[in-house]
Amino acid sequence: MTGTILFGIDVECANENTAGFVEYATPLFHELAVPVTWYLTGKTLERYPDLFRPLGDDPLIELQAHTYNHILLKTVLMRIPEGKTIHGNQGWYLQPGGSLEEIDADLARCQDVFCQVLDRPATALTGPWGYYRGLGDRLDLLEIVYRHGFRVLRTFGRNVDDAQPVPLDWQPFFYAVQGYPDLLECLIHDYQDDFYWEAFVDPQPGQTYADHLKTVVDKVADENLIWSLDSHDHGCATRAGFEKKGSWFRELITYAKRRGIRFMSVSQFYAEQNRSRSTIL
Ligand SMILES: [Zn+2]
Repeated sequence: MTGTILFGIDVECANENTAGFVEYATPLFHELAVPVTWYLTGKTLERYPDLFRPLGDDPLIELQAHTYNHILLKTVLMRIPEGKTIHGNQGWYLQPGGSLEEIDADLARCQDVFCQVLDRPATALTGPWGYYRGLGDRLDLLEIVYRHGFRVLRTFGRNVDDAQPVPLDWQPFFYAVQGYPDLLECLIHDYQDDFYWEAFVDPQPGQTYADHLKTVVDKVADENLIWSLDSHDHGCATRAGFEKKGSWFRELITYAKRRGIRFMSVSQFYAEQNRSRSTIL
């Protein structure tokens, strides 16, 4: 085994970008024959039930949750790197999280939509924006997500500055210290998408996101790491718009396969990790 990629995509626009993404990404992932996990907001699933219902039993595309209304589980307080402008700000950027009551109600509604459209609740949840330490320092939030049936999280998606990239030295872990030994955190590593890489890195002419991703692939293969990789359905309404992502999806996947890296859906990964956890206990 030479490394693992968990490719997760936040499908959240609930408009023509989502419809375009489903139309263009579905055949691409089938052609490349790799498992991926799409994290849908309840709002998106509710808007397009007929697009997603046929994917409910797709062998490669797994559908999981990204809250109902994209509510932040924690406040993000980002220290913006010197000289950079992120979300129109310099210095600091603050994006407030929801209250416990709002989050509880949002996740209940999200699971209702999953049950209505797909006849099952979601078991994995991506926390909007991502947070330093995930939910490791928030027992109140862990209680809520666990009670709503989530057993895998992607909430650790920011570094010590609440910014990006998230180093791969931090690997998936169970929230055992907090009292949830069967609740797995997968993180979101590196940059959350091509547009964040551009914002944080300020690439020089000729530098591409695909080239950057290949350096991460090499590290993952050489050190046998788990890489939780993220993207979004933004800007995908047309085929030309989708291709901005589709071209690096293709380049990355082809290169990673050549390096012998395996791809897994989040539930396949959870099953494997949970089995080895049971052996240890
Ligand atoms: Zn999102």
